[in-house]
Amino acid sequence: MPHFNHTMKAAVVHDFKQDLEMQDVPVPKVEHGQVLVKVKASGVCHTDLHAAHGDWPVKPNLPLIPGHEGVGEIVEAGPGVTHVKVGDRVGIPWLYSACGHCEYCLSGRETLCKDQQNAGYSVNGSYAEYCLAHADYIVKIPDNLTYVEAAPLFCAGVTTYKALKVGNANPGDWVAIYGIGGLGHVAVQYAKAMGFNVIAVDPFDEKLELAQQLGADRTINPLTENSAEFIQREIGGVQASICTAVSKQAFGEAYRAVKRGGKCVAVGLPPETMEVPIFDTVLNGVSIEGSIVGTRKDLQETLQFAAEGKVKTIVETKRLEDINEIFAELEAGKINGRIVLVND
Ligand code: NAD
Ligand code: ZN
Ligand code: ZN
Repeated sequence: MPHFNHTMKAAVVHDFKQDLEMQDVPVPKVEHGQVLVKVKASGVCHTDLHAAHGDWPVKPNLPLIPGHEGVGEIVEAGPGVTHVKVGDRVGIPWLYSACGHCEYCLSGRETLCKDQQNAGYSVNGSYAEYCLAHADYIVKIPDNLTYVEAAPLFCAGVTTYKALKVGNANPGDWVAIYGIGGLGHVAVQYAKAMGFNVIAVDPFDEKLELAQQLGADRTINPLTENSAEFIQREIGGVQASICTAVSKQAFGEAYRAVKRGGKCVAVGLPPETMEVPIFDTVLNGVSIEGSIVGTRKDLQETLQFAAEGKVKTIVETKRLEDINEIFAELEAGKINGRIVLVND
């Protein structure tokens, strides 16, 4: 017998670029292989803003409940669920489910599965009191992390940790983090924990100050000088640049900040194209690689860094009802760290 209400509060997108509506909607029914999670906290990722604006070529179906940094407690487990149970503390990442048997799933690249579902995009996410999840794709939260500090790790954390792996730098190498927002502020910390020297790039000085507090060795504000020229002159280029900025300009600079043989890792998702000079790419042996979130295994590692105290998310808590103001602030670049929505 379900011990919760039949309706729940949710923030719902009805039309692209319109305010989300607070609504009472039915609590989803749990089916085979699924669990119902009582959402305790949910990070607000810039991707949710892209979803609500319909920014990308593949649009989400509306109405939609966004949210893919949702964490909470399992309150119901459907038939066939054996490895997690009611009471477990878990998170529901962007990779809501994958097919489990394609070439990508079989080769440890499940985030490339063509049959994947995405939380808060192709299926409803965690901007609600409850969220349905696939038992096989949720990941448990280590005991010593609170829900609020764990939430942003489920996207911002795993995405940047994975992107740094993709960057292929060695300890002692320089890496540049472009964009010190929700993703970037944890990227700086993972990069330091992985033994890299870090230069942080962001047009807001307060974000550069935060990056410095979090361990960045150098910072550069691209409004004062072209960041790529600065990086080439001052440190001889970086082995990897991780671009999380929602800016075409930033992608161009992140590409040109890379040293010979290095890599520019594309993470941010502005709906624009990136211009790549062929001559320089060939002569410098530079590569560009896209990196999309991370696997369940990457996520376990991501959480472990935080459980060991090597990474700490900087969060401010707000309520679900505040979502429209939060989106406006996120778009204006005014948020330092991550906003996390909390339920009672
Ligand atoms: P955010 O808004 O918190 O952070 C973006 C940061 O970029 C801000 O600090 C902003 O000041 C900075 N910025 C803006 N212009 C810049 C410039 N010219 N140079 C350097 N920095 C600049 O957003 P977020 O939640 O960190 O997400 C960032 C992007 O990453 C979004 O497009 C989001 O959709 C995408 N994303 C991708 C993945 C993935 O798997 N690839 C996962 C999560 C998010
Ligand atoms: Zn995200
Ligand atoms: Zn697959």
